[in-house]
Amino acid sequence: METTNGNNIKADNFNCIVCLKLIVEPVALPCSHSFCKTCMENVLKQPRRICPLCRSDVSFLNAEDLRPNAMLKELLTIVFKDEYAERVAEIEEERRLASTFNTVRKRIHIGNEHSQVIEGGKLINHKWTLFVTMSDEHINDQQDQSKDYISHIDVNLHPTFEPNFVTLRKAPFCLHRSGWGTFLVQVGVHFKPSLNHNPMTLTHHLNFSAAKDQSTHVVVFEIPKEKPTLVVDLDEIPTPTPNNVIDVDDDVFIDDRPHAVMSDFDDDEDYEILIS
Ligand SMILES: [Zn+2]
Ligand SMILES: [Zn+2]
Repeated sequence: METTNGNNIKADNFNCIVCLKLIVEPVALPCSHSFCKTCMENVLKQPRRICPLCRSDVSFLNAEDLRPNAMLKELLTIVFKDEYAERVAEIEEERRLASTFNTVRKRIHIGNEHSQVIEGGKLINHKWTLFVTMSDEHINDQQDQSKDYISHIDVNLHPTFEPNFVTLRKAPFCLHRSGWGTFLVQVGVHFKPSLNHNPMTLTHHLNFSAAKDQSTHVVVFEIPKEKPTLVVDLDEIPTPTPNNVIDVDDDVFIDDRPHAVMSDFDDDEDYEILIS
C-alpha cells in the first residue's frame, strides 16, 4: 500500500488473487487471507481445499462457514465506491447466468492416424485418417462423445484433392485419404443447435512421422436450462359456466383471463412435468 491517504490507494492492491479483480463480498479464511465469496466457494469445490495465497489447509471449511470480512468490505465500498458497485453488478450477472445456464466443459481432439503403403519393399504412398473426437475436460482416454455435441464438420483439404471441401455429417467424424504430402487441414466444427455455441475453427498439420498425432482444445458450452413444461389433463378441469361462476374445488382453479388455465401445483396427480 503506497500511503494511508485514501486518495492514493490503488484498487489493484485489493485484487482477489483468484479472479484478479477487486475483491467483492470479501470473506476471510482462518489464515486471515481474504477473497471474493464466490471465488472462495469455487475453491471449496476443488478436491484439494487450500488457501490460494498461503496454501494452508482449509479442508475443514464448508461454503456456509465462510466469514464475511466486514471491515474490508466497508473500506472497499468507501474508497472504491464505483469499482465496488461495478463488481457487485458483475457478480449478480454471473449468478443470474448460473441460474439460467448449465456450464459444460469438454475437450475436442483433432489429429490424424497414419500408415505407410508398402509394395515390394518400397514405400509407395501414405494412408491417413483425420479425426475429431470429444471427451470430458479432465479425461482423455474415453469413449468419443462427439455424436452428442457435434452436428457436422467441414474439412478443407489441400487444393490438389478432389473434392477439397468435405462435410462429415455423422460420428465418428473421420476422413480417410491417401497421398504423399502433409499439409495444414482446416476444420470447421459445427455444434448441435441446442448447445447455443458458435462454430469452432480448428487446424491440424498432418503428421506422417508418427502412427497418431493430435492436439486438444477446451470448449465450454453455456446450455440454457430448460423450463419445465406444464402438461394439464384437460379432462380434469370443469367446463366454466358462461358467466364464469363456477364451483372451484380444492384442486383446480379456473382463471377468468381468456384461454388461461391454471392447476394447483401441489397436486401431483393432475399434471406431469415434462422436461423436453
Ligand atoms: Zn475473486
Ligand atoms: Zn492464507
